[in-house]
Amino acid sequence: MTPNKEWTPNSWRAKPIKHNVEYTNQEALGRVLENINNLPPLVSPAEIDRLNKQLEKVSKGEAFLLQGGDCAESFSGCNAQQIEDKIKILLQMSLVMIWGMRVPLIRIARMGGQYAKPRSANTEVVDGKEVLTFRGENINGLEVDDREPNPDRLLRGYFHSAATVNYIRTLLNSDFANLHFPQNWNLEWVKSEDIRSEYKEIINKLADAFDFMKTIGVENGSPTLSSIDFYLSHEGLMLEYEEAMTERIQRMSQDESGKTQKKLSFVSLEKLGTESLEKSGDKYYNLSSHFLWIGDRTRQINGAHVEYFRGIANPIGLKVGPSLDPEELVRLLDILDPDFIPGKVTLIGRYGVSKVQAFLPQHIKAVQATNHKVVWCCDPCHGNTASTPEGYKTREYNNVIGEIGLSFDIHKTLNSKLNGIHLELTGEHVTECTGGSMNIEAKDLSRNYQSFCDPRLNYLQSLDIAFMVAKKYQ
Ligand code: PEP
Ligand code: MN
Repeated sequence: MTPNKEWTPNSWRAKPIKHNVEYTNQEALGRVLENINNLPPLVSPAEIDRLNKQLEKVSKGEAFLLQGGDCAESFSGCNAQQIEDKIKILLQMSLVMIWGMRVPLIRIARMGGQYAKPRSANTEVVDGKEVLTFRGENINGLEVDDREPNPDRLLRGYFHSAATVNYIRTLLNSDFANLHFPQNWNLEWVKSEDIRSEYKEIINKLADAFDFMKTIGVENGSPTLSSIDFYLSHEGLMLEYEEAMTERIQRMSQDESGKTQKKLSFVSLEKLGTESLEKSGDKYYNLSSHFLWIGDRTRQINGAHVEYFRGIANPIGLKVGPSLDPEELVRLLDILDPDFIPGKVTLIGRYGVSKVQAFLPQHIKAVQATNHKVVWCCDPCHGNTASTPEGYKTREYNNVIGEIGLSFDIHKTLNSKLNGIHLELTGEHVTECTGGSMNIEAKDLSRNYQSFCDPRLNYLQSLDIAFMVAKKYQ
């Protein structure tokens, strides 16, 4: 992508910004951002470009996208067990889906930087006292007396992201993926005998397929598992942090043999000065994550977030829902994808089961009338959040699969294709969403409700979705 010359990593600062964080100590903030800017990147431009290529395939229907993780990561959740559980469920889901759908799966975790959260209000009343709302652990603390935004938390966010990314890389370079072969999956929580035997049948077929691969000499360490591709993502909400993690990457067009070759290397912004991007062919990459998305509340056409996102070479997501006018969607795509790169933008629909039929078709038609080739992804979580009388934020499994099913059907009717799903999930046995094959009821939510943000699908509810999608796509 070639952003026009007025774009710089900090040009968003001149635009109106939503969900801004007010720091009282600007000097401390400046110091922290400089520190972050000097720290090493968490991902590489080559990895980002590989994902760009893979998302191009997804946009053409040649692969499917599975994106998922916590609503918000916590610093205390940065531990081996929780990271393993999350990678495990994403791996297991992707195996079921690959088996059922017969397409390659691209996995993107909401991990390694998903700390900052948009909130509907700046303040809330706790025990009769008005306090600032909790904005995510890289901004302030959940404890009521720790709500003042503290710039040091951005640095802690960087280091927790680094530890998470490091452990994920370690897992994927070890035998972790192979340990999660179908034989070891845990179905003891499935309530209905019928569903359990249906799942077992699929799992046995999957296990057979692996045995067959072994027999013909494709060992467990086959390329699809041992060098499994996993990418990271988070909402690009805290633009100060995203700016500090953005680097201009030099592109050299020739190697010694004279063959044209793209060679990417890290260079500092200062060294390049202000030479025009277009002339140099250089690009800006956000090296905090492979994929970033713009939230539903920060996608104003003239706003700071859209301004920042239009300049980076990473693949980007855009949350879209009932409040987005189809014409505005097209204008946003023109800004975010000026070069019409297939898969550059993933539209993450979050309409809600009761609204998806009224709003998704007009978005599909509007995009079909342009030259933009997007990835159509369904987030069946954010339009289906409800609260119980006891005050638990929850989601009903049937509404979640209902929105996924309707999205598949709507795309099909319009000669389009749903290319992926985006879920808030965890590999643990939490009780935050109702329904699924564990039959969690509203009265069970208190048993193991852990999320301090939105409710997540648990291990089995996530597997339920994989089985459902696999069947639906066949
Ligand atoms: C989220 O993905 O956690 C989120 C806040 O979503 P949205 O922007 O769609 O409301
Ligand atoms: Mn959420």
